[in-house]
Amino acid sequence: MSDDLDHVMKITRRPPVVMTEGSGSWLRDREGRTYLDFVQGWAVNCLGHGHPVVLEALQSQARRLINCSPAYHNEPMARLASLIAESSGLDTVFLCNSGAEANEGAIKLARKWGQRHRSGAFEIVTMQGAFHGRTLATMSASGKPAFEPLFKPKVPGFRKVPLNDLDAVSAAITERTVAVMVEPIQGEAGVICAGDAYLRALRELTSARGVFLILDEIQTGIGRTGRLYAFEHIGIRPDIMTLGKGLGGGVPLAALVASEGASCFEPGDQGGTFNGNPLMAAVGCAVVETVRRPEFLASVWDIGAYLAERLGALSAATGHGGVRGRGLLLALSLTRGDAAKIAETALERGLLINAPCPDTLRFMPALTVSREEVDQMLERLGSCLD
Ligand code: PLP
Repeated sequence: MSDDLDHVMKITRRPPVVMTEGSGSWLRDREGRTYLDFVQGWAVNCLGHGHPVVLEALQSQARRLINCSPAYHNEPMARLASLIAESSGLDTVFLCNSGAEANEGAIKLARKWGQRHRSGAFEIVTMQGAFHGRTLATMSASGKPAFEPLFKPKVPGFRKVPLNDLDAVSAAITERTVAVMVEPIQGEAGVICAGDAYLRALRELTSARGVFLILDEIQTGIGRTGRLYAFEHIGIRPDIMTLGKGLGGGVPLAALVASEGASCFEPGDQGGTFNGNPLMAAVGCAVVETVRRPEFLASVWDIGAYLAERLGALSAATGHGGVRGRGLLLALSLTRGDAAKIAETALERGLLINAPCPDTLRFMPALTVSREEVDQMLERLGSCLD
């Protein structure tokens, strides 16, 4: 590793590569090597690198107003809140900087509501395998086994149940419960889908028991699954939803979104220096306006189906397992080899893919990825699977 990287805190294992430029589905490092990017900042750069609408929004908003403090309204903040509220059918939006911050807000909002309307109830039922972020509360809410021994004592008040087990949720809801929190697809766990019927039943169960349904759409939202929000596939609506990743198309932007009935924060309960800043919000507006167009979402669905089909064919030809996921959030099950090693070899061969677990490769390309780029990815991946 070169000397100038020594002062970067080692919070994860990174290859000794320094990225310098990006365009569409491609990244370039400072040695001039190019990479076909099927990670895209972990499903963040939904329009790929350097998309003109993102650049234009950044440039024109930077010239007008970068920050006016969260003490005042600003135009992009109001516009993005309206766009999200109107497109989701929910009512109020708190803009923030990361998915973890949005989820932390969702947990606080549910607890506040429990204090006011459910005799101090505060527990949230969450799922084994879930990933909700890396603040202390969101790590406590997550069901990732590797988080269990870390940073004790954890924040109390989370009851973990297996995903897709409705009876377990039902048994876990007590008079102390305020909400059930779930990802429509557990991305970090390896693209594990919550079943449509399960989510529909969960919606009914939570309504019947008087607790909130919180959907963490940080990875699945903003077109990733071929709909603006994954819940649209299922025909339900949550009480609280969180967005992040794709919302900013590459800039730090996230949102806590709530129904009117759930919106019980009072002044002073929630906030932060950068929340709702006009520069990030302007990018969010440009991204949402681009992604929500029906023809854009239809193309995500088409290219997702193409990737799934071709990946399935490659897997069958090389003796690997099934493809799972929805839209452009897909995973391939490996029957042999170590996924991290395959991702490492792929990087050496100019392909960026992600290995969320030892037997799984995850694919989250730009929503604008072309068929030719999918073909090139499969060609490079094929050589690594061999
Ligand atoms: N929730 C889900 C479903 C995620 O996939 C992630 C990030 O991977 C988060 C929350 C945390 O988001 P962030 O890393 O922006 O804090």
